[in-house]
Amino acid sequence: MRLLDVFDRLGNHAKPVRTYPVRTLHVTIAFAVRCFVEFRWKPENFVYHRPPDRLTPRRLSASVATRSQRASVWVTIDDLPMTHRLPMLAGREDATRACAYCPKLCRPACPVATVTGNDAVSAWGIMASLASQAEGTEPASAERLGRAYACTGCDACQSHCELDNPVAETLRDARSQALAAGVAPATVSAFLASVPLRDERVRDHARQVGSTTDRPTGVALVSGCSLAATDVPRLAAMHRAFERWFGEAALVADLCCGGSLLDAGDVEGFRARSAALTDRLRAASAVVVLDSGCAHAMSTLASRRGLETVAVETLEAFVARSVRRLPEGALADRGPFAVHDACKLGRGAGQYDAPRTVIEHLTGRPPVELRDRREHARCSGGGGLLPRTHSAIADAMSDELAESVRASGASAVVTGCPTSRARLERQGLEAFTVADLLCDLSRGTSK
Ligand code: SF4
Ligand code: SF4
Repeated sequence: MRLLDVFDRLGNHAKPVRTYPVRTLHVTIAFAVRCFVEFRWKPENFVYHRPPDRLTPRRLSASVATRSQRASVWVTIDDLPMTHRLPMLAGREDATRACAYCPKLCRPACPVATVTGNDAVSAWGIMASLASQAEGTEPASAERLGRAYACTGCDACQSHCELDNPVAETLRDARSQALAAGVAPATVSAFLASVPLRDERVRDHARQVGSTTDRPTGVALVSGCSLAATDVPRLAAMHRAFERWFGEAALVADLCCGGSLLDAGDVEGFRARSAALTDRLRAASAVVVLDSGCAHAMSTLASRRGLETVAVETLEAFVARSVRRLPEGALADRGPFAVHDACKLGRGAGQYDAPRTVIEHLTGRPPVELRDRREHARCSGGGGLLPRTHSAIADAMSDELAESVRASGASAVVTGCPTSRARLERQGLEAFTVADLLCDLSRGTSK
């Protein structure tokens, strides 16, 4: 977006009127204070802009504008001293600086900041606190790196950001830095220590549900390890329901996408798991994934790290594409269902219509919409290891989402995330994924 576009959006037609080259952070802060105190500009009247053509690792150009005074100021920062640079955050200077000099435009979107009322754990707060770590202007701080774990990876901030700033990805890098430096929270270390045991449980459950250990050549149905680790009967029912409506599919339930390891900061663990799962699936004619979080890790997160990937489809997208195979109106006596746009299915994959298509086909009416929907949808608090690192915040997020479902008047909710389904059920709601609806359909209908 160009600067003048920003003004147009505000209904202003002013041009930048002043330029201030600023050489140190202290002068920039002093200047910002002067804007607030002397010019009486309010934070909500500021618009941040970073022209891409001025962007270099050592230089940031920003402008602030006021709606009332129709003026703007350019602030340029360069030649900051480069000491104590944290290697994993190298290359993230632009992202962290962008937030540090932003008037928190995405603040209302961050669920962690909303439920805590604490700006220090908003996208702005965490990124700004990491800026000096990325630039090497201050020594590494365990406290600042540790704050990177106060995030669900929901991407709500990025989808509200005019700069499309990759906050969650930057925080994943910070986590890996924290883990490497030995300053990750104790709960993260405990999680990583529990992984071998969980792997064993997943493999055992996978054997029970008839998971293949060969490379499938037809359709592969990937469960995701959170489902395989916790709910064998549900997983078996989902596999049966999928085959009943859509034909034979080899269940792959013994391997993990590695997404939770990446959330912990274990990049190498993620790479190894991603490679093993990709290798298992390379001969499959189609790969359908039950957990949208796993689909996101297998495609987007793996390719961002230069890893080999296979084409994957979420169950929601697959079912919506083949919805005519399901009996129309078969669940007309159920609901009304609200639809929750899960983070990785919605903001991650842009699949907002798929669950709505399925619900409308099965019930004969469109789902009830929540107040915060589509790209504005709320996270249930289950992502980014938040339930382990900040369980009270994660629970408050589930409370808030459950409350919005109750306020919608729906009697049940369909979500694109198995973790959200479990968290909403714990809130006493009737909650389903599309895979659960397939199971109910199989139980209640003879084909
Ligand atoms: S993510 Fe974007 S909108 Fe949010 S604080 Fe950073 S730069 Fe500002
Ligand atoms: S990814 Fe979500 S939880 Fe994390 S900083 Fe952004 S909005 Fe907040």
